[in-house]
Amino acid sequence: MFNLDRIREEFPILKERVHGHPLVYLDNGATTQRPARVINKMNDAYLRYNANVHRGVHHLSNLCTDANERARQRARDFINAQRAEEIIFTRGTTESINLAAYSYGEAFVRPGDEILVTGMEHHANIVPWQMLCERKGATLKVIPVSDSGELLVEELPRLLTPATRLLAVAHASNVLGTINPVRQLVDAAHAAGARVLIDGAQAVQHLPVDVQALDCDFYAFSAHKMYGPTGVGVLYGKRELLADMPPWQGGGEMIKEVSFERTTYNDLPFKFEAGTPDFIGVIGLGEAIDYLSSIGMSAIAAREEALASRARERLRALPGLVLHGDAPLASPVISFSIPGVHPLDAGTLLDRLGIAVRTGQMCAEPLMHRYGVTSMIRVSFAMYNTFEEIDILLDGLQRVIALLSPSR
Ligand code: PMP
Repeated sequence: MFNLDRIREEFPILKERVHGHPLVYLDNGATTQRPARVINKMNDAYLRYNANVHRGVHHLSNLCTDANERARQRARDFINAQRAEEIIFTRGTTESINLAAYSYGEAFVRPGDEILVTGMEHHANIVPWQMLCERKGATLKVIPVSDSGELLVEELPRLLTPATRLLAVAHASNVLGTINPVRQLVDAAHAAGARVLIDGAQAVQHLPVDVQALDCDFYAFSAHKMYGPTGVGVLYGKRELLADMPPWQGGGEMIKEVSFERTTYNDLPFKFEAGTPDFIGVIGLGEAIDYLSSIGMSAIAAREEALASRARERLRALPGLVLHGDAPLASPVISFSIPGVHPLDAGTLLDRLGIAVRTGQMCAEPLMHRYGVTSMIRVSFAMYNTFEEIDILLDGLQRVIALLSPSR
């Protein structure tokens, strides 16, 4: 049973007041809030068993190392990876994608090759591939987006060529919410001999993810968007592929033996984890996964879908507001414009009412161009949001339109 009161109790920040109003936090796509149990778990680690991992023979180091490896198992279970060594801890989605682009690129991308991305990617899933293409003399190609915010999959046969090495695609768009048909894309890419990286930054917190069922080659996500701490993320990669990729960064823990003549590298996943990791953050990520699992991803998805469909319906009915994207399958992320009103002004006015929304180009400039705008207003829901908060948002937007819209 989904117990909203109990869930909201777990997030003390939701009781904060902003400019004299109760906080209405609708910027969960940027970062979610963390439940007290995640913060307490990290506090406890700092206070009782803080020690560097994989290094010491002493008691605290062993405790901390065990807690980190348990978190790796939890991450493995969470996305149903086959093996724990396929879970690489990183700083977040951005670092995960940069790692994959660099290391996969070094091993497999040659001049004349092609990398395929989509028109709705976050900059984190565009720029590392662009940098790779520049380094290797490869070409970046783009799957276009329809008016309703869906990928034009019918373009795939034209875009996937024998030169395509990899397709990089968001599981869910951080702007439109669109959930992409990733399994279908993986099959098409694999049939063409290309690998697939899925950017799961906007998916893992909203729906059950099974990397074996998806058959993707890489999957990237961040802890801070799924009720965990900042500074930690995961790159999942298929073991046989990771084994054939060179290390990305050099330093401690990624080595087996070092001499001035030659260094040999550690086994997976440590080959890709140079330097002291955010080992307390990793423990926090493990706790966030436990928390999500205790509620159940299906229950979370159902709750958020109810919130988002109500919000979409109400926003669509609001005169003076234009919704962007209308995909039948979407995460609880909704972006819109108010013609004649700058998103920054709207966001500032909403903030005065205690409502936190995101405004700007959402780290997705090419998608802004696709919709002919330079910025949008985005509301993104988490399981702890309420239907009353949707009413407050709608009241706030009515005031924005009445005050700022030239046509009213
Ligand atoms: N991809 C998507 C789809 C995102 O929404 C984000 C975060 N806005 C990122 C990548 C980057 O994540 P991070 O900043 O945690 O590295």
